[in-house]
Amino acid sequence: MAIKAEYIWLDGVQPTPDLRSKTKILAEGDTPPDWGFDGSSTEQAEGHSSDCVLKPVFTCPDPLRGGGDILVLCEVYNADGTASKSNNRAAAVATAEKYADQEPLFGIEQEYTMMTLEGYPAGFPDGGYPAPQGPYYCGAGADRIFGREIAEEHIEACLDADLMLAGINAEVMPGQWEFQIGPAGLLEVGDHLQVARYLLHRIAEKYGVVITLEPKPMKGDWNGAGCHTNYSTKAMREDGGYDVIIEACEKLGKNVEEHIAAYGAGLEDRLTGLHETASYKDFKYGVSDRGASIRIPLQCKENGKGYLEDRRPCSNIDPYTVARLLVETTCG
Ligand code: ADP
Ligand code: MN
Ligand code: MN
Ligand code: MN
Repeated sequence: MAIKAEYIWLDGVQPTPDLRSKTKILAEGDTPPDWGFDGSSTEQAEGHSSDCVLKPVFTCPDPLRGGGDILVLCEVYNADGTASKSNNRAAAVATAEKYADQEPLFGIEQEYTMMTLEGYPAGFPDGGYPAPQGPYYCGAGADRIFGREIAEEHIEACLDADLMLAGINAEVMPGQWEFQIGPAGLLEVGDHLQVARYLLHRIAEKYGVVITLEPKPMKGDWNGAGCHTNYSTKAMREDGGYDVIIEACEKLGKNVEEHIAAYGAGLEDRLTGLHETASYKDFKYGVSDRGASIRIPLQCKENGKGYLEDRRPCSNIDPYTVARLLVETTCG
């Protein structure tokens, strides 16, 4: 029987690549083969030498088409065999192998904003503003919640695709939502996040809604969108782990610039020191502190072990790079 395989990849648009996809018909049971596309149409190649290679790295059921159809997440390679410019997963593979014995786990909180085709967040009246922030976060009611049908459909799709979805919630700004992926390994968290992002774009498409991962979609007194990254190693999760967490925070404090540079374009607009953030110019960590760069959950202090939350990554991060840097900085 023929099945449809939706090949998904990151394009070369800078500074923040978008997801692209196209369909290949396979025989049921076939291993999805390498494939190709026109890189000159995705800012990944020049017209005179435009072929890029799609290498499947993660496959799951396609919850949108159903049946035996599948989603196939791919890494992109140039014709000469080098990794394409937005393929940051390739570099993360080496780090995942090198530090496998530390068993790093990640939970990424993906915040995002639903926009109308006119470019306003869902819940913002035409050309105007809704009531100030306060009632929207985790709210209920038609005057405070916008787009719940999309968020609900997204839950179902992620579960049907066997993704490690941890939960969802409505966020502080109207039209803003969050879903969490994890706890999962270094490559797994990125693979599942990319597919979950893809499903969100596809589901919103049916409603005429555009999903943006802009870190600060509305300037002014409106919360930005982040990708808080929760992180632990085996040593942090075991007895005595609290000291290992503190040690990791200290190491992160000595490598601020490399992390900030990889934590999403537009980070300066979001990490202002207001709206539950620390300024990107400062570094501080603290127990239960949502105004810190790194928060150590209260539970971890009480249990003496657990994980840390890096609150700096923006909604538009490359998850492979963020996860790779956390491991390299703290385990190296
Ligand atoms: P917040 O209180 O910051 O909103 P969330 O509940 O949204 O937190 O997200 C917490 C995330 O942390 C979840 O994705 C969860 O899977 C992840 N997590 C839990 N324990 C660990 C751990 N030991 N290591 C890494 N991530 C973890
Ligand atoms: Mn959260
Ligand atoms: Mn949040
Ligand atoms: Mn958080």
